[in-house]
Amino acid sequence: PPPGSPDIVIARAVPPRPITEVAERLGIEPDQLLPIGHDKAKLPHDFTASLAERPQGKLVLVTAITPTPAGEGKTTTTVGLGDGLSRLGHKAAICLREPSLGPCFGMKGGAAGGGRAQVIPMEDINLHFTGDFHAITSAHNLLSALIDNHLHWGNELGIDPERITWKRVMDMNDRALRHLTVGQGVPRQDGFDITAASEIMAILCLASDLADLQRRLGEIVVARNRDGAPVLARDLKADGAMAVLLKQALAPNLVQTLEHNPAFVHGGPFANIAHGCNSVMATRSALSLADIVVTEAGFGADLGAEKFFNIKCRQAGLVPGAVVVVATLRALKMHGGVAREALGEPNPAAVRRGARNLARHVENMRDFGVPLLVAVNQFDQDSPAEHAVLREACDALGVEMVVSSHWRDGSRGSEALAERVAALLDAPATRLSLTYGDDVRLEDKVRAIATRLYGASDISLEDKARRQLEEYEAMGYGHLPVCIAKTQYSFAADPAMTGLAAGHVLPIRETELAAGAGFVVVLCGSIMRMPGMPRRPASAGIRLDDHGEIEGLS
Ligand code: ADP
Ligand code: MG
Repeated sequence: PPPGSPDIVIARAVPPRPITEVAERLGIEPDQLLPIGHDKAKLPHDFTASLAERPQGKLVLVTAITPTPAGEGKTTTTVGLGDGLSRLGHKAAICLREPSLGPCFGMKGGAAGGGRAQVIPMEDINLHFTGDFHAITSAHNLLSALIDNHLHWGNELGIDPERITWKRVMDMNDRALRHLTVGQGVPRQDGFDITAASEIMAILCLASDLADLQRRLGEIVVARNRDGAPVLARDLKADGAMAVLLKQALAPNLVQTLEHNPAFVHGGPFANIAHGCNSVMATRSALSLADIVVTEAGFGADLGAEKFFNIKCRQAGLVPGAVVVVATLRALKMHGGVAREALGEPNPAAVRRGARNLARHVENMRDFGVPLLVAVNQFDQDSPAEHAVLREACDALGVEMVVSSHWRDGSRGSEALAERVAALLDAPATRLSLTYGDDVRLEDKVRAIATRLYGASDISLEDKARRQLEEYEAMGYGHLPVCIAKTQYSFAADPAMTGLAAGHVLPIRETELAAGAGFVVVLCGSIMRMPGMPRRPASAGIRLDDHGEIEGLS
């Protein structure tokens, strides 16, 4: 297919190699693999457990500037960079999140990369894949059912029905289910979140093994009792059965890129109300099997990369060797004040203004002490004059910039990027510098992120939020990291403040304890846990053609 063909057309033109062959490139024998069909597999638990002692490869984090609503090509660049490294002869693998089924039919479309930088089989990956999301949905709703069942049979634990925080989930954008009343004798308020927003998704992604999974499930706080004390999933004896439902889902999934290089696609937490990156199980397995592992964190670096470091790396003891900050001219122009409809026009002056957004992200990444470079994800409309302006801005920042055309050209287009990233990895190992220590007060953890990374002058806490944080500390959860849920479209809590938001005060409305995942969610502004669909959902363009092939999935 010619460049610019729909993602699904490009993807379908490449027949996948047998997954055993892809696994072999990582030294995995066929009998060490749990194949699911011909082109997907899971790594069984006894195998992943056997990998722990192996020497670890180097980890590269792909993150981005503040995104536009379309996304800036982090997934595409992660795939392109992985393929580029393989092309140069490195034993490389990539680690991505699994797309959520709901948004595929709503607004965003799928999340398997784009152009000649995709993971396949893209239909499966974007739809039911290996069933992990369905398992999470089931485990989550089992706990919901057990709570209501406990109330039904006399409420021995003294659960306060007004203070049940555990809702229900489904993997569909369905705003009609956001708020509802459940119960027969004594009705109570409940509602559905999307599966990706379940704490169980975050748990699956942070658990280091089956035992840790079961332990974390037990730690989930589902409600308060009438004395205000936390009621755990363990108190309802739900943890064992939930772990059983999730056993297979915790095993990392292996697929391939369009160039037949190994790709671990596993776990899919949001990057606002959760930490937004691939599972620890998959990342660790990949690091034991490959020399270089490229992974993506969701949204912009202020959300995704911050959480990757302060939550995932903190909990899992990972230390990346390099960071790639993805930028596009379109997004920079938007940050330079250009309207969405005019992004196709060359506008070097707007790129220069918008580069202030990139500059803040670059400085923030430096704060973590990991070497970095800027990757410009090239679009066909990009003009040389705009690239030149951006190069000047990067020179002034003292950061290297590489233009990469993997979307159009596959690994041929990302060779230069791969070379420069490999060079960064040759530098002596870095010492990761996290934004705050475990024993800092929760409020000050939020303040540290807001002032050091968001350019805020301070935070403001509503009384309710302050009381909640004090309560968590009193309950013994003060050591947890914080997970800030704010808009991805700005450094501030106001999505309209694009570019370089500065001097703003970060408003904290409410907080939530995710004791199983091991973080405290801090909500700024209104954050959606159950998205809706737009007036014309993507599903309207999706169908089977005359040959029974899927059309319109992107
Ligand atoms: P992110 O991971 O940052 O959300 P994706 O990599 O998923 O972004 O890309 C978002 C969309 O943009 C995809 O549909 C992809 O095909 C498209 N895209 C990415 N890079 C390019 C490019 N260089 N030219 C045209 N379209 C692109
Ligand atoms: Mg992505």
